[in-house]
Amino acid sequence: MKVLKFGGTSVGSAQRMKEVSRLITEDNETKIVVLSAMSGTTNSLLEISDYLYKRNPAGAIDKIAALEKKYEATVNELYTKDEFKAKGMAIIAERFNTLREIASSTRIFSSIEERIVVAQGELISTALVNNYLLEQGVNSVLLAALDFMRTDKNAEPDMSYIKENIQKTLDANKGKQIYITQGFICKNSYNEIDNLQRGGSDYTASIIGAVLKADEIQIWTDIDGMHNNDPRFVENTKPVASLHFEEAAELAYFGAKILHPTCVLPAKQANVPVKLLNTMEPKAKGTTISTDFIEHQIKAVAAKDGITAIKIKSGHMLLAFGFLRKIFEIFEHYKTPIDMITTSEVGVSVTVDNTKKLDEIVDELRKLGTVSVEKDMVIICVVGDMRQENVGFQAKVVNALKDIPVRMISYGGSNYNVSLLVKAEDKINALKALSKDLF
Ligand code: ASP
Ligand code: MG
Repeated sequence: MKVLKFGGTSVGSAQRMKEVSRLITEDNETKIVVLSAMSGTTNSLLEISDYLYKRNPAGAIDKIAALEKKYEATVNELYTKDEFKAKGMAIIAERFNTLREIASSTRIFSSIEERIVVAQGELISTALVNNYLLEQGVNSVLLAALDFMRTDKNAEPDMSYIKENIQKTLDANKGKQIYITQGFICKNSYNEIDNLQRGGSDYTASIIGAVLKADEIQIWTDIDGMHNNDPRFVENTKPVASLHFEEAAELAYFGAKILHPTCVLPAKQANVPVKLLNTMEPKAKGTTISTDFIEHQIKAVAAKDGITAIKIKSGHMLLAFGFLRKIFEIFEHYKTPIDMITTSEVGVSVTVDNTKKLDEIVDELRKLGTVSVEKDMVIICVVGDMRQENVGFQAKVVNALKDIPVRMISYGGSNYNVSLLVKAEDKINALKALSKDLF
């Protein structure tokens, strides 16, 4: 069995929903199909929530009505038979009534309601596509992700619960060809409706693929795989045919927008290959992410914006132990992840992208030494065969950036990447220089 995930753009209009339906029924294989909300919907639902947080139900109701209109147009375009059109309208009415009920409730709007609001996008898109497949005579069924997707007390996917319950759900729906389900949404350990964070549909697909030990997980987007550099800034980038799980994880985390960073992990642990494919060009090979590792190759470059570098210098670090622990504990206390780290005998530099608690962190760090902060930095991440025996590869990377001021270099943390920190203003030149020298 394969698990296929289609993102918001891939189901972004009636036309695209028809395309997706055609794609998944080209052969007679049994598939689990994970869908995102139609593009723009999750943002609209968050905006509606924002109105409700700000106690402006009238504003929210206007937004809800505008969104409902768009969906009615989609339904009118999607179905031909009256019976299926009526079903489509009923699907929408149910979901939008839920939204209106929340908007006009006198209860204080909280994160619990927000998560219910945001969940409606995937509930609608999957029901509409399933209804379309049924109109086409396809043997398909809608599976409620809320019946089996669950996170635990640490907000991590509860893999054993998911495995047991998706299997139950599948057993109860034996003999179907297409199983449609919602990406992104789940229940949490309090049995509330929750989600796997923005872009989380990829994660849903990867988790389902992993617990079912699927043959393959396919992530369908509107670009033909992971490119070897950022096509928004560099010309002539090319899709990378194959990536090791670790390489893909680094790229996803450090900027390649095509894949959600958390998505690689479950697939990697279950050793299920992930394919990145293009809905606009379904025959293109895309990128395969697996345990296959191609030696002696630099694969790709990605950049992560909005990075802040923090340097802590202290004479006390010299020959001392426990200094790094003290630093890390401060970041841990303020729940701020560190991305990159470099050290010298008397100082440490780290980078963060979450600056919500920066002032508090800096105040605490000042107790340990002299602190300086640089904002508007970019991490450039180069992935490929970076094992130490592959002599000269890291030198190639550094040499490509010989005309660009580099603030930090991190090499040796894994066999798969070198990361460099540069100023935001140097990012495009750095990406171009790397493409020119490496590919
Ligand atoms: N609809 C959700 C979002 O926009 C999840 C996803 O598309 O992956 O973030
Ligand atoms: Mg996405």
